Amino acid sequence: MKKLPASDFARLGERTRLVMAGRDPADSYGFVNPPIVRGSTVVYPNTADFLARKARYTYGTQGNPTIDALVAACNTIEGGAGTVITPSGLLACTLPFLAFLSAGDHVLVTDSVYRPTRNFCETMLRRMGVETTYYDPTIGAGIETLFKANTKAVWTEAPGSQTFEMQDIPAIVAAAHARDILVMMDNTWATPLFFDSHKAGVDVSIQAGTKYYAGHSDVLIGTVSARTPELYKQLRASWEQLGIIIAPEDAFLTLRGMRTMAIRLKEQMPAGIAMAQWLSQRPEVARVMHPALPDDLGHAIWKRDFTGASSLFGFELAPVSMDAVAAMLDGLTLFGMGASWGGYESLVLPFDCKTYRTATTPGFKGPTVRIHIGLEDLDDLKADLDAGFARLRAAV
Ligand SMILES: *Cc1c(COP(=O)(O)O)cnc(C)c1O
Repeated sequence: MKKLPASDFARLGERTRLVMAGRDPADSYGFVNPPIVRGSTVVYPNTADFLARKARYTYGTQGNPTIDALVAACNTIEGGAGTVITPSGLLACTLPFLAFLSAGDHVLVTDSVYRPTRNFCETMLRRMGVETTYYDPTIGAGIETLFKANTKAVWTEAPGSQTFEMQDIPAIVAAAHARDILVMMDNTWATPLFFDSHKAGVDVSIQAGTKYYAGHSDVLIGTVSARTPELYKQLRASWEQLGIIIAPEDAFLTLRGMRTMAIRLKEQMPAGIAMAQWLSQRPEVARVMHPALPDDLGHAIWKRDFTGASSLFGFELAPVSMDAVAAMLDGLTLFGMGASWGGYESLVLPFDCKTYRTATTPGFKGPTVRIHIGLEDLDDLKADLDAGFARLRAAV
């Protein structure tokens, strides 16, 4: 194996790139993986070099070889001008607001946004003098009717957190770019493997690397990729000014997850779709929210713009009491109940988006559930849910 120049990566497939990125045996004593480099201080050979900061690495907060190996892997699948790494997915969401918005600016945020991002807009961003307007996730080109003279950015997330509405990203990009407005996207659900956000014109692309990148529910991490060198410069400057740095162990674990990400997603996508189809046939289920299902409201956009689906989706139950829902979920033996997703294990949780939405009111009549399909045998997962539905019917 030889370290490849960046120009050689373009001709390789995504799987090969994920295997090759950030590895140079000459730099790691011949071992396959990059070393975990811990450090604050970097020492210089002499005064002249110190004064000129002439060194590959200058100080621990400016990055180090382990973090750069992860950056290389991110860059090669994002296809942008550069990536910064953050200690959580949430910070990857909030950093672009801090990097690109100023007091007096206005930002448009999808009403289906990941809830902690909404919380940031309502608290710190508001305190800093930036006004947020939430919009209908399905607005498409109609976004331009919401532009004001001071609108600086549109925040998108597709499909939406919890409710899985698809967004017409190319239409939003066209409208925004005509007015020099930035488009930012939380692309965690699809990952760059299933939606090439920069190619679609998205200026700032966010990943909660905690999910499919790391893939094992053992790391919190985020990535922000910028489409152009100018945007990257501004993003990177804010990253440095804020002193955002991650532990090299977390970079190492994330990189380890990314080596197998394409294969995990290749398994999890059909498993998720099969489970969504199975659920949509159940009498206890009123509606499944999964853009890869042909009768999903966002299916046409998903099919046009995305090349795959991850294994997180939602469903609405026919109206039942919350006690019945608890009876179903509490007895599950294989599904864990908890936030986050994208790991190798299956998860389930009840949610109620009516309590926080402001621009739209999803018309759910029954309780809603979010589900993540891991790498278990699908028949075992179905049997677990089947027993759960029996408990639900018994509790009604
Ligand atoms: C989980 C998640 C985040 C935040 O990631 P953390 O690492 O848990 O902070 C951001 N956006 C989406 C869509 C998520 O699902």
